[in-house]
Amino acid sequence: MATESHEFQAEVKQLLDLMIHSLYSNKDVFLRELVSNASDALDRLRFEGLTRPDLLPDEPLAVGLVADAEARTLTIADNGIGMSREELVHNLGTIARSGTLEYLRGLEAGAEVNPDLIGQFGVGFYASFMVADQVSVVSRRVGDEKATLWRTDGSGSFELEDADRDFAGTTVTLHLKAADAEDGMADYTSEWVLRDIVKRYSDFVAYPIHLTMMRKEEGEDLAKPVTSDEPINSMKAIWTRPASEVSEDEYKDFYSHITHDHNEPLLHFSTAIEGTFEARALLYVPSQAPFDLYHREMAHRGIQLYVRRVFIMDECRELMPEYLRFVKGVVDAEDVSLNVSREILQQDRQIAAIRNHLVKKVLDALKELKDAEPEKYLGFWAQFGPVLKEGLLLFDEKKERILELLMAHSTHEETALTSLSDYVDRMSDDQDAIYFVCGPDREVLASSPHLEAFREKGVEVLLFSDSVDEVWLQQMPPEYREKRFQSVGRGEIELGSEAEKKTADEARAQDEEHYKGLIGAVRAAIQEDIKEVRLSRRLTHSPSCLVLEEGDLSPQMEAMLRQAGQDVPVRKPILELNPDHEVLRKLQGIFDDNGTDPRIAEYAGLLYAQAVLAEGGQLADPSAFTSKLAELMLRALD
Ligand code: ADP
Repeated sequence: MATESHEFQAEVKQLLDLMIHSLYSNKDVFLRELVSNASDALDRLRFEGLTRPDLLPDEPLAVGLVADAEARTLTIADNGIGMSREELVHNLGTIARSGTLEYLRGLEAGAEVNPDLIGQFGVGFYASFMVADQVSVVSRRVGDEKATLWRTDGSGSFELEDADRDFAGTTVTLHLKAADAEDGMADYTSEWVLRDIVKRYSDFVAYPIHLTMMRKEEGEDLAKPVTSDEPINSMKAIWTRPASEVSEDEYKDFYSHITHDHNEPLLHFSTAIEGTFEARALLYVPSQAPFDLYHREMAHRGIQLYVRRVFIMDECRELMPEYLRFVKGVVDAEDVSLNVSREILQQDRQIAAIRNHLVKKVLDALKELKDAEPEKYLGFWAQFGPVLKEGLLLFDEKKERILELLMAHSTHEETALTSLSDYVDRMSDDQDAIYFVCGPDREVLASSPHLEAFREKGVEVLLFSDSVDEVWLQQMPPEYREKRFQSVGRGEIELGSEAEKKTADEARAQDEEHYKGLIGAVRAAIQEDIKEVRLSRRLTHSPSCLVLEEGDLSPQMEAMLRQAGQDVPVRKPILELNPDHEVLRKLQGIFDDNGTDPRIAEYAGLLYAQAVLAEGGQLADPSAFTSKLAELMLRALD
């Protein structure tokens, strides 16, 4: 077939442009990306070879680097799975992941992208264009006879031609730009530069990396290849080495290697399972949430599963629950079958046992961090708290353990977060519940009329404003240190000591008698919107508020369910009125004079509207409300 030319997808063009003009000083990372692609391709072939040994090459699986100073080329070759013509077009001409596309589309013209991010994006190959002005790839898919050459100079298009390659695999050849120390561009044909980069970033790659230098002897015309005797990487599985022999830098580099995240991890720990099932794990908690934490395709690189040091799969979801999807690392199991498939994994008792063990260890490690380094823990919480709280939605998870890790805003100190145990420690003897308020906006929550009596009595209330809070709090969380959770906006609330409650009950009975007729009239006026009208024990300043009954769905929950297409019955709240408020007293006066005075219905409507607005809600007819208000202002001014 003759040469064929293809346009790059628009976002790839944009990305290439960013790479070509990158001012980023650490250009060495391109090699890490290409070696990691080669290593992935070898992993995939090795995995296929477990069931189809005929696909495996005679030669050992390996990566080869060839540097030619005279031609100014650097070649990275592997005898891995290879790519067909279609795969070359798709993999190296388009961006598949929607998260990455969205990110690129959101970039301003001329923006700089930190190439540290590109590994996470799944576009590492394009980092080559930081150092090369021409890139060609010859690849042959395992099982195919023919190879294909893919070539581009990084402008808008690439070319394809038929090619030859003796065995399956991929060879990437970079035509290097001139070395320029100021621009962070080292001489990537220098043996020492290459050794150093491989050692730094790719030492753990599980396959040997061989380095070949093209050298010209004195008086000869042609350069000859000289290959290193030993691989230039150590290939040591870091999790099999005693922790005392592994340096912090090695742990960090291994983290970057498996996650393509180049921030320092927040913490790492190793754990071994002994007994019936044996396994080792090395786990990391990142310091930064990946940009796609809430995308479905996230966990692209989560927990890698190895069986007896053989790589089996990336992203083994069966080993970590969704709510710990930010945890990264490696699990190496002793007795799992090498041919294990996803279907088997889901039912495997051993995998379930390993998962249980890992969940416990992760929760232990987080608890330890919280106790020992509270500041650092707050950093973790800011990044991953809402994800961790998803665990509170699960049926059989260790909810109490998660509650121990929970941090929340509180009326105790509005700018700081508190833990539940600190909250319970501060509770007075006669407080029998953990009080909370939940809604989408923390500022609205903090000024909610529901808090008035709590503030006056000095009873602390937790403020929850993540969208996941709505759901786990609605599902009735378990008790924490024998204290139940109680919403301040639901049911009847009674605060204070037994004696205080008794006095309050007596006063309430009197008030109820006093306001009986008025309450009936208010109810009659607004019965379409509310279920009941009653006197409040929560209010001290505001005249009215809305409350729910214990089992009712919150307005946010209702909205979420409706959005999800569910048929949610219309729920009416209860209107509570403040018996000590001047407005109520005056209304009672009007009622005493004339029980059918039209102003009672008017004010009833306003008391309801006020209560809706105070909790950040929306009125069904805002313009009716504003004209009513204007009318009242005029009357008051006259
Ligand atoms: P990522 O490796 O993060 O998915 P890249 O842009 O580096 O993103 O590569 C895109 C895709 O091209 C890879 O997912 C892989 O399918 C394919 N690819 C890249 N290099 C190789 C290689 N050496 N052998 C086989 N496939 C490769």
